[in-house]
Amino acid sequence: MIIENTVEGVKRQVKAWKSEGLSIGLVPTMGYLHEGHKSLIDRAVSENDRVVVSVFVNPIQFAPTEDLESYPRDFDADCRLCEDAKASLVFHPDADEMYDGDFSTFVDMDNVTKELCGKSRPTHFRGVCTVVNKLFNIAMPDRAYFGQKDAQQLAVIRRMVRDLNMNVEIVGCPIIREADGLAKSSRNTYLSDEERKAALVLSKAIFKGKEMLESGISDGEEVLEQMKEIILSSPLAKIDYVEMVKWDSIEIHHTVDCPVLVAIAVYIGRTRLIDNFIFEV
Ligand code: AMP
Repeated sequence: MIIENTVEGVKRQVKAWKSEGLSIGLVPTMGYLHEGHKSLIDRAVSENDRVVVSVFVNPIQFAPTEDLESYPRDFDADCRLCEDAKASLVFHPDADEMYDGDFSTFVDMDNVTKELCGKSRPTHFRGVCTVVNKLFNIAMPDRAYFGQKDAQQLAVIRRMVRDLNMNVEIVGCPIIREADGLAKSSRNTYLSDEERKAALVLSKAIFKGKEMLESGISDGEEVLEQMKEIILSSPLAKIDYVEMVKWDSIEIHHTVDCPVLVAIAVYIGRTRLIDNFIFEV
């Protein structure tokens, strides 16, 4: 497995692979890899000749008040996981490699970024779209893999690729959970023992909401109310949002007459966690 820190090094390698007619899969990550990331890499390895995993904590998708500095990092462990999963190349640039001092060009998006995480983190998706666009230009993938864990991000990337006619297929992958239901996340490491227990209200609310929609309830308000009640049963939980939106456009929509995304963001202590499910009628 190749470890590469420079943009030019990755470009040289992917051009060589392309000239041999090999297909390339890309898995963008911020590192501190777990089974959720591994499921994306496994899928990419099964569908492409070569797989590039990027490990980059992208500064421009964090607001000044957020956890850029404290975001967990363990590059040696990440490389071991990538090697075991049979990735071909790990791209691990530093921030200066990705952003020149006079960097000036951003990819921004209307509509799909207005609600949910886009509302609480107004500059987040501009940073995500910009870095993902750069990674596509650097790794030139045939396919790129994103988790449904970050469902709005998946919808945003799909829209960007469609709107800007990018030549990459976006593959969405299911949420991987801990045995007790908590969605795996690098940020789970922030949780104390007590908070880790309290964090179960997220998946409990998600499972309850899903069960209600599956039982035929189509009133979104009723479902969201029940979910909020479950979350607020923990004194450590503070709701950022509990919402139902159209899955493709991420517009608020409280009737289940089209594919909907039910998404939540909840602070457990100081840690902001997200979870969701998609329901197709
Ligand atoms: P991150 O390193 O958190 O930016 O995540 C990198 C990619 O892994 C994103 O596409 C995430 O949606 C995906 N991912 C993170 N956690 C999970 C999970 N528990 N299950 C599935 N995919 C995940």
